[in-house]
Amino acid sequence: MATTADPSTRMYIDGQWVDAAGGKTLAVINPADESTLAEVAFGGRAEADRAIEAAARAFPAWKATSAYDRAKVLKRTADLIRERADVIARTMTREQGKPLPEARGETLATADTFEWFAEEGKRAYGRTIPPSNLAKRHHTVRHPVGVVGTITPWNFPAALASRKIAPALAVGCTVVSRPADQTPLTLIQIFQALADAGLPPGVANLVIGDAVEFADALFAHPAVRKISFTGSTRVGKELIRRSADQVKRLSLELGGHAPLIVFPDADVQQVAQAAVLGKFRNNGQVCIAPSRFYIHESISKDFTEAAVEATRKLKMGNGLDEGVQVGPMFAEPALGKTRELVEDARSKGAKVLTGGSRSVRFEKGYFFEPTVIREVDGAMRIMTEEPFAPVMPLLDFSRLDDVIAAANATPYGLAAYVFTNDLTVATRMAEGLEAGIIGINDPVPATPQCPFGGMKESGLGRELGIEGLDAYLETKYVSIGLRA
Ligand code: NAP
Repeated sequence: MATTADPSTRMYIDGQWVDAAGGKTLAVINPADESTLAEVAFGGRAEADRAIEAAARAFPAWKATSAYDRAKVLKRTADLIRERADVIARTMTREQGKPLPEARGETLATADTFEWFAEEGKRAYGRTIPPSNLAKRHHTVRHPVGVVGTITPWNFPAALASRKIAPALAVGCTVVSRPADQTPLTLIQIFQALADAGLPPGVANLVIGDAVEFADALFAHPAVRKISFTGSTRVGKELIRRSADQVKRLSLELGGHAPLIVFPDADVQQVAQAAVLGKFRNNGQVCIAPSRFYIHESISKDFTEAAVEATRKLKMGNGLDEGVQVGPMFAEPALGKTRELVEDARSKGAKVLTGGSRSVRFEKGYFFEPTVIREVDGAMRIMTEEPFAPVMPLLDFSRLDDVIAAANATPYGLAAYVFTNDLTVATRMAEGLEAGIIGINDPVPATPQCPFGGMKESGLGRELGIEGLDAYLETKYVSIGLRA
C-alpha cells in the first residue's frame, strides 16, 4: 500500500505506480522560494494510451458494480483525504503557493466532494413517462458514458480534479486524469487515497505529461467518450474544435471576469473587508475571483479608503508561515503578466493606490504586492482580459441598469457578486446578471451540493450539485410495445 508521509512522484496506471517509459522527469518548483520540490515522472502519448487502454478494460466491471459498492470506495477515499489533510495541504502550499489555511480548506472540500458524489451516485434515477399511446410503456435509464478524460489547471489542484473524478466514478465511468505541470504532487496524493480506499486497477489512472500529447490520445481513442476540462477559454475553444471528429462529449469550466457590485445600503467597512479577502484569495488566481469592482458613487470614497487599508494590512509571505494571507503567484510568467496589466492601466490613466509591482521584500519567490487601482476604464486590458492576478480595479456607478449593462459587457459569464440588503435590488441583480454563479452578500459561493459553472464563453455544463452527475451519464429512452 502506498504511504502518504512520503509523497510518490509517479504516475498511477492500471493500479501501478509507474515512471515514464523513457525515464523522463519534470521538476516541480516551490513558487515561494524557487527551490525544486521533486522530480516527477513525466510521460506523454505512450503513457496516455496505456492509461486509456487500462480504463477501457476496467469499464465493464466498474459499470456493473452497484452504486452502493462504488460509493463505499468513494466514501473511504473521502475519509482518507480527511485523515491525511495536513500532509496534503502542506504539499499543496509548497507546490502551488496558497496559504496553508486555504490549502487545508481546499483539501477538506475535496473530501466533501468525494462524499457528496458517493451519495449522489445512488440517485442516478431514470424516469417513467406517461404514454399517449396506451399500447406502449416508456421509461428512461441512465448509463455511464464510458472512459472519461480529465484535464485540470494548477490553481486548485485537488478540488477541480475531484469535481470530475468523483461524479464520473460514482456513476460507473472509468477515468484518465492529467494534472497541470506545475502541481502534480497534490493530485498524486489524492490518487494514493483512491488506491488505498480499494479502487480496482484501471478504474482511475493518473498521467503526468505533455498536455498536447495527452489531449491527442484522448481525442484519438474511441473508448474515450467524454472529456472534462477546466482551464482557459482559449484552450476550451480548441477542445471544442477538436471534439468534432468523434463527437466527444465535453464539459468545460473556463475563464471568468467577475464583477463585484456594492450598493449604498451595504455596510461599507464590512463589505470592503470581504471584497479584499475575496479578491486576494489565492492571489486572485481563482476563476470566480472578483476582478471588476463597481462601487456606488455615494460610498465610493469610503469604500476605496477601507479597501486600500485592508489590502495594505494583508500579510504576504511563504504560505507555510503562520498568519500569512497572501502567498506567491504560482509561477514567474504570472508576475510578468500582472505587471503588464498594471502598466497598461497606468499608461491609460489609472491611479495605483497601493501595490503595483513585484515585491522587493523577498529575495526569492514570485511575490506581487496586492494592488488596488482607480480611474479605470473599459479601454484598459485589465477590464477585458481575464486578469487572474492580485489586482483590484475600482469603478463608480450610479444606476442599477447601467451597472448591470457594464457587468454583462464581457464575453465571460462565470460569477458575479452583489452586496446589498435591499431585497428588490438583490432580486433585480440576480435576474439581470449574466453569470452562472451569483453571490449575494457571499464572497465565496462554492460548495459541493450546489451547481458550479459558467454562461457565455465561461463554459459548457455544470459541476457539483445534482447537476454534476449529468455530465457523466447518457440517458437511454426505452419504449415497450405491449401485446394486444
Ligand atoms: P490553461 O492554459 O488552459 O491550462 C489548463 C490545463 O490545460 C493545464 O493542465 C494545461 O497543461 C492544459 N493544457 C494547456 N494547453 C492544452 C492543450 N492545447 N490541450 C489540452 N490541454 C492543455 O489554463 P491556465 O491558464 O493554466 O489556468 C487558468 C485558467 O483556468 C483560467 O482561465 C481560469 O479562469 C480557468 N479556471 C476555470 C475554472 C472554472 O471552474 N470555470 C476553475 C479554475 C480555473 P499544463 O500543465 O501544460 O499547463
